[in-house]
Amino acid sequence: MLIDTHTHVNFNSFKEDGRDVIDRALTNDIWLINVGSQYKTSLRAVNIANNYNQGVYAIVGLHPIHLFNMHVDESEMEFNTREEEFDKQTYTDLASNPKVVGIGETGLDYFHVPEGEDQKSVKQKQEEVFRAQLSLAMELDKAVTIHSRGTKDDPLGVYQDIMRIMKEYPGVRAVVHCYTGDVETAKQFIDLGLNISITGIVTFKNAKEVQEVAKEIPLEHILVETDAPYLAPDPHRGKRNEPSYVKFVAEKIAELKGISFEEVAETTTQNAKKLFKIS
Ligand SMILES: [Zn+2]
Repeated sequence: MLIDTHTHVNFNSFKEDGRDVIDRALTNDIWLINVGSQYKTSLRAVNIANNYNQGVYAIVGLHPIHLFNMHVDESEMEFNTREEEFDKQTYTDLASNPKVVGIGETGLDYFHVPEGEDQKSVKQKQEEVFRAQLSLAMELDKAVTIHSRGTKDDPLGVYQDIMRIMKEYPGVRAVVHCYTGDVETAKQFIDLGLNISITGIVTFKNAKEVQEVAKEIPLEHILVETDAPYLAPDPHRGKRNEPSYVKFVAEKIAELKGISFEEVAETTTQNAKKLFKIS
């Protein structure tokens, strides 16, 4: 069994066939956690989870790119973000559902800064809302899914800022989702007690750094995820991703570490269950 610890079947890309996509995963013994990025997608993640007795969970929160109105052009798709203020009560209510296993995705995104906005005040606002969600997670005893994206010129600076902030929230269980930094920084996160989550990027030929991280970081600190509909692993690169494809991530990690697929599946599943308190 595997757990896709970060996926978005709650997004519009799965509007037509989300049920089939989830059934396909569950049939293959793959559990999944749908992650919200603002109120609407968080609510949808909770509603989807409510349809299943077991195996489908939700994480609710406000993503840093949804703090501003912005046009986002990702390689896979384009969309407009809508400005939302973080309302603690709204997310507290959502998180009271027993299927909600975490808060997020929240964090810092220096890559998507809206045009015409002052860099410094954007960063300040992101940090403020990140801190609010860390406090909420602490209050509710939920894990936190951290989004972090640096700029082309400074890909690692954002991780240092995340670390500076996390040091003020000792005891908060958290995972750095879609980790793309270097081994040294990953080790610093682990020393802080955080987990590192690996996506399908690890299967890409040119992703040497992520492969190095998957190889060097002890399996006990690694989670696997798809981040679907984005980042489909080889051999589906460029197409819509889905939770079932998390097996390609686990296979690649096994290959890089020179261990069996079963060991990767078993250990990463235990890691996820422990972090998110899933039984
Ligand atoms: Zn995501």
